[in-house]
Amino acid sequence: MKEHKQIKDWGLGLTGPTIIAGPCSAESPEQIEQICIEMKENNIIPSMFRAGIWKPRTRPGSFEGIGEEGLKWMEIVRHHLNIPITIEVGNAAHAEIALRNNVDVVWVGARTTVNPFAVQEIADALRGTDIPVMVKNPMNPDLELWMGALERFHAVGLTKLAAIHRGFSDAYDKRYRNKPNWSMPMHLKRVWTGMEVINDPSHIVGKRDGILEISQKAMNFGLDGLMIETHHDPDNAWSDAKQQVTPARLKEIIDAIDFKKPVESEQPSERLNDLRRAVDHMDDQLLDILQERFAVIDQIGAHKREHHLSVFQSDRWKDVMESRTQKGVAKNLSEKFMKELLYCIHEESVKRQEKQLREADAVKK
Ligand code: PEP
Ligand code: MN
Repeated sequence: MKEHKQIKDWGLGLTGPTIIAGPCSAESPEQIEQICIEMKENNIIPSMFRAGIWKPRTRPGSFEGIGEEGLKWMEIVRHHLNIPITIEVGNAAHAEIALRNNVDVVWVGARTTVNPFAVQEIADALRGTDIPVMVKNPMNPDLELWMGALERFHAVGLTKLAAIHRGFSDAYDKRYRNKPNWSMPMHLKRVWTGMEVINDPSHIVGKRDGILEISQKAMNFGLDGLMIETHHDPDNAWSDAKQQVTPARLKEIIDAIDFKKPVESEQPSERLNDLRRAVDHMDDQLLDILQERFAVIDQIGAHKREHHLSVFQSDRWKDVMESRTQKGVAKNLSEKFMKELLYCIHEESVKRQEKQLREADAVKK
């Protein structure tokens, strides 16, 4: 297992949930100062301040970031709020400049995570330091690519790692700017134990309405923090104007969220233990049933072999799929779940039977 340090152990004095706020882009010292002042006035001091210094815009000609000069303005943030600063780095030069300017935490953006060459270049530039790195999910829902980027940083000795869930582009689903696809962050947490995932509702929703709803959902699922783009004058922001919120609105959002405690943070109650034991028992029963089911599948396979029948039979599959899905739905299981479950079981059955055929042929030869 890859050992890594969680946010509380980054040496920045952070205790969860991690709230990262600040503008999409640093625009001017006045802008940075006004955001800080309004955060203070509204009694909202985030865990970290974010600001885009170089902006990876989809089309050329839009504002591409203020550049290194903006990093000097981060002193204003330290002066007013005294909180760690995090910025996006998109190449090795950015990483070197971030180090030179004492940025506390860097993140890799979605457009960079898709490119292993760029990620490796950044990892090499950060080698030998212990700067914390957060990796946004790639534009496309590819868990391997997301994991791969985290692994590249881990491989050069950087252990202070976290992930950011900012959603995935989807040409058809217009409800979101980037579709959340909640199974992805959850799956990352399953395959990399202890990996914290910060949700970025701003880039998921793409507009001001709906940020609270997505944030609450993220907390319900057990994600570990939020990154929310915040600007004192969102309508006139130089990038992502539609989705930024004012510090006052940020405060309302944070106050409205019902933050959940991670289950592990408490001694599990007797009730939870009992329920989990019941689930363990039922999982054993499920496995016994599956074992029996596959034993019958093998007998069907033997029959098909004897009678020179091919394995896959479309009409039978259609029948199984439709009847079981209907029954499942009647038992309050979702149609999507039923279909995925049946595909999975059928796929395994077909593979087992085809393997039987091959083995029988091998014996004949
Ligand atoms: C951003 O955080 O402003 C940004 C560019 O995000 P993403 O990489 O998620 O598009
Ligand atoms: Mn942005």
